[in-house]
Amino acid sequence: MALVDPQGRTIRYLRISVTDRCDLRCRYCMAEQMTFLPRAKLLSLEEIAIIAERFIARGVNKIRLSGGEPLVRRDVGDLVRRLGRHVGAGLDELTMTTNATRLAQYAAEMVDAGIRRINVSLDSLDPDRFRYITRHGDVKQVLAGIAAAKAVGLAIKINMVALAGLNEDEIPAMLQWCVDQGHDLSLIETMPLGAIDEDRTDRFVPLTRVFDDLSARFPLLRDNHRTGGPARYWRVGDSETRLGLISPLTANFCDGCNRVRLTTEGKLYMCLGHDDQVDLKGALRDGGIDGLDQAIDQGLSRKPARHDFRIEAGAAPAVARHMSVTGG
Ligand code: SAM
Ligand code: SF4
Repeated sequence: MALVDPQGRTIRYLRISVTDRCDLRCRYCMAEQMTFLPRAKLLSLEEIAIIAERFIARGVNKIRLSGGEPLVRRDVGDLVRRLGRHVGAGLDELTMTTNATRLAQYAAEMVDAGIRRINVSLDSLDPDRFRYITRHGDVKQVLAGIAAAKAVGLAIKINMVALAGLNEDEIPAMLQWCVDQGHDLSLIETMPLGAIDEDRTDRFVPLTRVFDDLSARFPLLRDNHRTGGPARYWRVGDSETRLGLISPLTANFCDGCNRVRLTTEGKLYMCLGHDDQVDLKGALRDGGIDGLDQAIDQGLSRKPARHDFRIEAGAAPAVARHMSVTGG
């Protein structure tokens, strides 16, 4: 049976966090000393595939693998290949969001498996800033990953979280770099997910402000491209580059929401901004496919109408879990 929520929204998009672990520690995403889930609590890759395939059978046509860093999970290539078999036969698209530190190693395998587009997080092109934001990352490694992906024909969208005092002044240069390289760019407002070591309020940049600045420097033409996701898009002049603004704080986008999220622990979150979830791992282990279907239906019947994000000084994060748990 198709996946339709109480608001009448049809769910077509499943985002899967294949691991909550990461080899970087981006300041807005994680605390330096993060506690990760014990491996015994994780879904096996086989279970992830079974759940994903059930969603495909029920009408999901787009899957994004994310994390944590998806490419740090051992054997993730097996999952990519297995899900890739559904591309063109149920799935319109299989994609991944990655920090690209290991992308050079995986790019060819991804294309073989049917992946055509990936999102790469890159918050600065400057080596010192990049190291500071990620707490120890090497931007050269990421750029090598991006180059390898481009060489095998993957379309690339750069994700950049706008951070006051850290990279806000670099946004025009990043857009120009993306135009020169033929990549898309999505700018993201920092979201109040999970405790980190700092107060996000200090770093929050409203994208309305960024947009005003960018439109004074670049010819930006509204593009009606819709993904059912939070981004609004602009074409940069006559270039190939599309600029996306993901602004959950300054523009609510929930009416068109078509997605749900599966964590590496097997929990299905119906909304990034709420704590409610259903346990698909338990349902599958105890009740097989029928149990899984029932749990999915139960979850869907509770999908909230909208998120409730706010960035306020001293306020606790909207939800306690980090983006890495639900796969940003
Ligand atoms: N590790 C991969 C990466 O960084 O691309 C995939 C997972 S990461 C959680 C997915 C996206 O979420 C990244 O683009 C990251 O910048 C973004 N992100 C993480 N925490 C965020 C937060 N609190 N607010 C806004 N975006 C966040
Ligand atoms: Fe890791 Fe991605 Fe979070 Fe950075 S944003 S710490 S790369 S999961």
